[in-house]
Amino acid sequence: MHELSIAEELVRAIREELRSHPNARLKSALVRVGVLRLIEPATLERCFEAATWDTPLAGAQLHVEQVKASARCRKCDLEFTVEHHWFECSRCGDTGSELLRGDELQLVSLEIEREMASASTNG
Ligand SMILES: [Zn+2]
Repeated sequence: MHELSIAEELVRAIREELRSHPNARLKSALVRVGVLRLIEPATLERCFEAATWDTPLAGAQLHVEQVKASARCRKCDLEFTVEHHWFECSRCGDTGSELLRGDELQLVSLEIEREMASASTNG
């Protein structure tokens, strides 16, 4: 299952990010994944849970945003959506298109909850 190794990779990257915020607790992380990566978002979210349970990130949620693949034809410049790894231009039929989006794996943002340094005053 390659989602698990990706999840572990993400955990490493997130912990690296959080190193400068030692008192912060991660609530959630948003990751953007291109469809060409062949990652099942629900599986990746579950794997993230498994990869974090014994770390300071335990309880944090991973949100996966899928990005459709698109390409631009080198011949006629048409931009089109790539489906099922089909890179043929729908206008001129050329197959030498350039991939624009769809193979990314990118940590977009982290939602952090700061640990209270002192008790709050309400109550
Ligand atoms: Zn074309």
